[in-house]
Amino acid sequence: MFEILKALPADPILGLSAAFKADTNAKKIDLGVGVYKDEQGNTPVLKAVKQAELAYFNSESSKVYIGPPGAAGANTLLQNLIFGASHPAVTSTRVRTIQTPGGCGSLRVAAEFIKKANPPATIWVSDPTWANHIPLLGNAGLTIKTYPYYDATTRAVNFNAMMETLGTVGKGDLVLLHGCCHNPCGADLNREQWQAITELALKNGFTPFIDMAYQGFGEGLDEDAYGVRLMAEKVPELIVSSSCSKNFGLYRERAGGLSIVYQSAADADKGQSNLLSVVRGIYSMPPNHGSAIVETILASTELTNMWHDELAEMRNRIKALRALLNQKLIEKGAQQDFGFIEHQSGMFSFLGINKDQVQQLVQNYSIYLVDSSRINIAGISQANVDYLAESIVAVLKK
Ligand code: PMP
Repeated sequence: MFEILKALPADPILGLSAAFKADTNAKKIDLGVGVYKDEQGNTPVLKAVKQAELAYFNSESSKVYIGPPGAAGANTLLQNLIFGASHPAVTSTRVRTIQTPGGCGSLRVAAEFIKKANPPATIWVSDPTWANHIPLLGNAGLTIKTYPYYDATTRAVNFNAMMETLGTVGKGDLVLLHGCCHNPCGADLNREQWQAITELALKNGFTPFIDMAYQGFGEGLDEDAYGVRLMAEKVPELIVSSSCSKNFGLYRERAGGLSIVYQSAADADKGQSNLLSVVRGIYSMPPNHGSAIVETILASTELTNMWHDELAEMRNRIKALRALLNQKLIEKGAQQDFGFIEHQSGMFSFLGINKDQVQQLVQNYSIYLVDSSRINIAGISQANVDYLAESIVAVLKK
């Protein structure tokens, strides 16, 4: 039967990585794949993670199943990290958090759960959004529609257009928002905008669904959770998918969480039984190791402090590189304003150059980025920023 299958085109980002590896140009720069990199271009294991792993390795006494929701202790600590331990939704036990295989696992379980509660639901996603949102949510059978978000001319959120479209969304449908550090555009909602969307959700009855894959990469752990915490306080129902891939650097361990805020503790109990039945039908139980590391860190003041310092280092490096790239582009004579790069947030921004110019950067300068011109800021370094800025200015002049 499998002979009828047609080969699918290779994933553009993975293809880019392979081409980067094969390139022998000593000046090559990889701005494609979305992982954090240090000044040397490495993605090392965080020190807090290594220490937690050693402690966990020595204390682990059984490999018995952890059950569909994952470990209770890990879930409580993750919930507190996202919402804050004293948040009214937490203290009134309206939130349930389960451990999931990364943020992707969380998104997929959430989609199946929505499908169970309301099969004809439409989920509205930003234009643009992270490409994998479409299969993760759409393959569960939800209808996907887009709302305007990033304006390529102003290089900022087109909030009026966004609100106009969201004004047509009603009860039973969902609006997917990026909690912080928007992937791919880097343009985030400000506090007034979060408040306005919250009011609109209350007025029109749609359910917000926040994907928070980069908590701590924007302004700080609490600051980045502003939208989640505001909505969890005001709206009756909210879904939050979270990932420990970036902020704990646990990418391959597949650690994440799914938190659902219900209207009441009684609804939460009913909802949780349905959510766990979805989990049983997909992967039965989540992997343990990554979440056990997160739990070990968050349960220890010493390791938590160490992790906070390492997270701040990653965040500050990204911010400094944003400012540096803008400054170098000015120095090298860029005619257009790249100030937006400095003011955007998280690992990604669109350079805002066309496909042809992207191809020139890849082919003539060994600077690897995807066709949309999205760049991973963490791929920049003190050592390559001059060459990068010169090359961008050169392709813009042609
Ligand atoms: N959401 C967004 C917006 C992301 O960028 C990512 C990672 N690239 C994820 C979710 C999921 O991450 P993971 O499954 O690796 O935890």
